[in-house]
Amino acid sequence: MAPLNKNDLSNLSFILNKPNDVSFAERPKPSLASPHDVLVAVNYTGICGSDIHYWVHGAIGHYVVKDPMVLGHESAGTVVEVGDKVTSLKPGDRVALEPGYPCRRCTNCRAGHYNLCPEMAFAATPPIHGTLTGLWSSPADFCYKLPDNVSLQEGALIEPLAVAVHIVKQAAVTPGQSVVVMGAGPVGLLCAAVARAYGASKVVSVDIVQSKLDFARDFAATHVYASQRVSAEENAKAIRDLAGIPSGADAVIDASGAEPSIQASLHVVRNGGTYVQGGMGKPDINFPIMALCLKEVTAKGSFRYGAGDYALAVELVASGKVDVKKLITSVVGFKQAEEAFKKVKEGEAIKVLIAGPNEKM
Ligand SMILES: [Zn+2]
Ligand SMILES: [Zn+2]
Repeated sequence: MAPLNKNDLSNLSFILNKPNDVSFAERPKPSLASPHDVLVAVNYTGICGSDIHYWVHGAIGHYVVKDPMVLGHESAGTVVEVGDKVTSLKPGDRVALEPGYPCRRCTNCRAGHYNLCPEMAFAATPPIHGTLTGLWSSPADFCYKLPDNVSLQEGALIEPLAVAVHIVKQAAVTPGQSVVVMGAGPVGLLCAAVARAYGASKVVSVDIVQSKLDFARDFAATHVYASQRVSAEENAKAIRDLAGIPSGADAVIDASGAEPSIQASLHVVRNGGTYVQGGMGKPDINFPIMALCLKEVTAKGSFRYGAGDYALAVELVASGKVDVKKLITSVVGFKQAEEAFKKVKEGEAIKVLIAGPNEKM
């Protein structure tokens, strides 16, 4: 492919003005802010639950959309221009975009936990604009070159896969272990697949929607369980019986954020096992803390992704260990962005990709 020219490209953007009010506008083209930056033409962007949440509610926790904000953060694109100091990339390279830039100087950044940087500037988290736009400027080291056998559409799935990689690392899954994953949305499905890639021999996907479980069984899970309207202990026992793990799971990942799932997690984990909270739901819930204490459970949170997670996500796709293509329900043109958001909100899709404004559809 001939290298692109910035002057020929549109910077049309999909903008959230206020809840349920979106529009398109041609914004000024970004230029390289540092000699270490690159300019990328965005090819595909996946819609994330957080984009939907901002669109419907205008806020997530204390992040409130006060001024119009470009949505989107799950993107892959093609390098258009590179700064003088960039040696790792050249125009024409296809890259997955890691969409949050930390300060690189604080204690967390210095310790390698840059996802915990208090100065993090993350795409489509107010007041930072997102990637549903034509051109995106990024530090070169936050762009991951896609191997030839990984498509740009798969590249847009690297972001949610990196979330799952980080969660499974937090769960410290080792070969032969049993893992229960609560929730079979995109991140839950990807956690199940990454846990398998890490060598887990039993991976149970749990959800309330049977069609999601059917998908999970084909995608990565060795067992699936439809949560019943019974107590958390009873659901936990049913999961243990189903998977043949009478003493409980080595690791339990909550990718749902739902209170009953979190409660069941603490009852399904084995004595001395690990529980990771990856899903985001209500900020405060009723938590079975006695089970945590008596079982001496290791409980961890997981937030976005950190050092090495994006690179491993690319490797898992390139090596064929995680087939992210299967999660793509549909791909729509840029101008169909709002309809695509509606479709995802209605729960009619796993992942919808929106082509960039310069992409011919
Ligand atoms: Zn996301
Ligand atoms: Zn920092």
